[in-house]
Parts: sequence; structure tokens; C-alpha cells
Amino acid sequence: MAAIKEEILRLKEEIPEGVTLVAVSKFHPAGAIMEAYEAGQRCFGESRVQELLEKIPQLPDDIRWHFIGHLQTNKVKSLIGKTALIESVDSVRLLELIDKESEKAGIITRVLLQVHVAREETKFGFLPSELLDYFRSRQFESLRATHICGIMGMATNTDDEERVRGDFHEIYSIYSSIRDDVSLGLRGFDTVSMGMSGDWKIAVEEGSDMIRIGTRIFGERQY
Ligand SMILES: *Cc1c(COP(=O)(O)O)cnc(C)c1O
Repeated sequence: MAAIKEEILRLKEEIPEGVTLVAVSKFHPAGAIMEAYEAGQRCFGESRVQELLEKIPQLPDDIRWHFIGHLQTNKVKSLIGKTALIESVDSVRLLELIDKESEKAGIITRVLLQVHVAREETKFGFLPSELLDYFRSRQFESLRATHICGIMGMATNTDDEERVRGDFHEIYSIYSSIRDDVSLGLRGFDTVSMGMSGDWKIAVEEGSDMIRIGTRIFGERQY
């Protein structure tokens, strides 16, 4: 367990200033999260609604929970109000549902839109063209209780470093083209979440300002 604290402290030394560390605690028990908390970590990522809802009451309230998994529409209502950021909004339908439930609850939900660039199996997310269309068509203007803070993406799961770098470069360029388009009038669109245990250094070199690290901190997950 001491290893968790050490990993957190080591990562904090390695990560450049301005990059947020999300400690991905999915499949790890509350005790492991507490170890990281005691090392000063406050931001944690979970990928299943049920697991997150079970952990929240067992842990300190100043934890900022990020939801990073595929969110089923029937779970949206129970998640609203529990997160600092939902990083994995992967469709317009889901976004609009989050907005509707947030408005009903009288709160603003902060989200990232997940973009899919990795050339592999079934990864969730908007295609780059869908994402750009969503902004160009100005559909986001109808949102009343949702704040789109930026983009989240994953690189292809491969040892080919150039492929990984290329994926991150693509995610960053989609992000910056939206952020820098002044005609959109977006405010607070300032986060690009990319990079995991195996590829975060490349992600940071390619412009990431939020990294999501699980295995390196907590060890292998037992599914
Ligand atoms: C599980 C997960 C991570 C963490 O991956 P590690 O390789 O364990 O660091 C990061 N992002 C997302 C979206 C995840 O589902």
C-alpha cells in the first residue's frame, strides 16, 4: 500500500506544472483511494456509475470525482451532481440528456466530449468530423445546464510510439481548432484530457493538460 503513496509523490515530481493528474481508481477499493488521498491526491477517475456511487459515501467529500467510462443513458440521472467532471460524453444524445437532468436538478454539469481517433475495435466517442460539425452547427448553444470544458481522447493501444504520438497530435489539433475558433464564442473551453499510464509522457509532449493514470498508481486491476 505504501507503494501507492510513493507512486503519487513520484508522479507529482514528474508531471509538468499545469497538468492535472486524475488517479484512475476503478476496480480498486476505497482503502487504496485513501492511500492516494493521504499523499495529497484529490482527483480520482471512475468508469462505472454503481461503483462510483458506492465509493462516494466511504471517502472524504473534498474528492473531485471524474467519470471516465461509457455512460449509459439510464444511469445519467443517478450520476448528476456527483461529479466534478464527466470526461466521456460520447454522443449528442447523451449530452442533451445530461443537460436535461442537470437543469431539473438545478445544477451545472461540467463535461468533456470524447473524441475517437484510435484505429481499433469498439472505442466510444465522437468521430472528429462529428465533433467539428457539432460545434460548427452551434448546437451547443441550446445547452442550458452543461458546461463543455474541452475534449478527452485515447490513443491507439500499441507499442508503436509514432502511431500513439500521431493520435495525440490529432486529438490536440481538433481541440485547439475548436478552442481557437473565436466565432464559436466558447468560454472555459480549456481542457484536453489525454494520456494514461503507458503513454502519458507522449500525451503531455503533444499538449495534454489532464492525464488519467490508473495502473501505474494502483497496480493491475482485477476485473
Ligand atoms: C482505465 C482508464 C484509464 C487508466 O488506464 P491505465 O492504463 O490503468 O493508466 C484512463 N482513461 C480511461 C478512459 C480509462 O478507462
